[in-house]
Amino acid sequence: MDFLDIIARKKMGEALSEEEIDYFAKGAAGGNIPDYQLAALLMAIRIQGMNRKETAQLTLSMARSGDMADLSRIEGITTDKHSTGGVGDTTTLVLAPLVAACGVPVAKMSGRGLGHTGGTLDKLESIPGFQIDLGMERFIEQVRRIGCAVIGQSSNLAPADKALYALRDVTSTVDSIPLIAASIMSKKLASGSKAIVLDVKTGGGAIMQDLRQSIALAQTMVHIGNDAGRRVMAVVTDMAEPLGSHVGNGLEVREAIEVLAGKTRGPLLDISLELGAHMLRLGVGAADEKEARAKLLRALGNGAGLETFAKVIEAQGGDPRVCENTGLLPQAKIVREAFAPENGWICAMDTTRLGNIAQNMGAGRKAKDDPIDYSVGFVLRRRVGDKVAKGDPIATIYAKDSDSASAAIRGIARAVHISEEKAASGKLLHAVVTAGFVEEL
Ligand code: URA
Ligand code: CA
Repeated sequence: MDFLDIIARKKMGEALSEEEIDYFAKGAAGGNIPDYQLAALLMAIRIQGMNRKETAQLTLSMARSGDMADLSRIEGITTDKHSTGGVGDTTTLVLAPLVAACGVPVAKMSGRGLGHTGGTLDKLESIPGFQIDLGMERFIEQVRRIGCAVIGQSSNLAPADKALYALRDVTSTVDSIPLIAASIMSKKLASGSKAIVLDVKTGGGAIMQDLRQSIALAQTMVHIGNDAGRRVMAVVTDMAEPLGSHVGNGLEVREAIEVLAGKTRGPLLDISLELGAHMLRLGVGAADEKEARAKLLRALGNGAGLETFAKVIEAQGGDPRVCENTGLLPQAKIVREAFAPENGWICAMDTTRLGNIAQNMGAGRKAKDDPIDYSVGFVLRRRVGDKVAKGDPIATIYAKDSDSASAAIRGIARAVHISEEKAASGKLLHAVVTAGFVEEL
């Protein structure tokens, strides 16, 4: 096949054939098409787009470029969730154990932080001893035994995506709906779960900032999943401000534990319950959303969710006592407050900047193999719509040293906008997307 011809056809806006798309994905995974030609096709796709059939084919070819997990030995409908990435977005740690405690098996393969967004694996690794590399046998055995496991993606999961994502990152071709949808869904299909709930973020801290584009991305992913025979639905949720108040790996684990212990309520719990209810419904752990919510709230109230989280931690080599005593999580040396510089209402947050502040403090990586400081980050004391008086604490900073704390305090002053006029609080849930239907809220 002549790859130059494939690039030329997509450049002119033509649809590519199944064979051409398969050749592209295999070539990306196998390393036998040069990067400059792959990058040229990515840019042509970014500009000309792909139709539904092409996007579904690209996803399948990328999924099949590596291992396809076989979870058939797990009884019931294995259920997964995926977030397109955010700040303070810790829903997996809350809902995976809660959903499992309600009887639906959760076999989850997670990723690391990317750019300003955090990753579930990095958060879990802040728990002393926690292992994210179990191998397929132990992974399946653990889900069979306690209903839940969260591991890293195997090195041979969708290798075509690894190659293409690395190129997209450096060629300004990340922001393409077919490319994002194929990237995410190839990994979900290869991970093997029968039901998938997608959390598509929208707003300033999200990969798709515009609501219409976010809904279109959600629809594309739902179509791909359904065409591949999986039960898939999506929820479009807000990332104009961080979801949870805690940002940073160990801090986010602490917040998840506090939510599971019933000590903290708020947006992180609300969205976890929304996503969890859809997981229970798709996994047939509940007949409808009302029953699903009632079950989740019961597992929260009687401690079954936290108990399952402790079992997951113990099974994966971590110290389950963190569930009783979050003081066992890594603790930062320096703790300082950031104060409101004036009277008013919090009217907006620059969420990408907030994510970058945590990353700069050491909570995320700049280069691929950078070490992570699990103890650092910050806890926001206010949300958009809250009234503040000059001198009120708006965030507590957890830093490795005094310079880093000062930089974070300056950054937060720039990222949290205060207005003299009363500001409304933000909306959390924007839309629910199923196969043939978009419900805007
Ligand atoms: N996350 C992914 O895995 N892929 C993308 O393309 C964007 C976000
Ligand atoms: Ca709902």
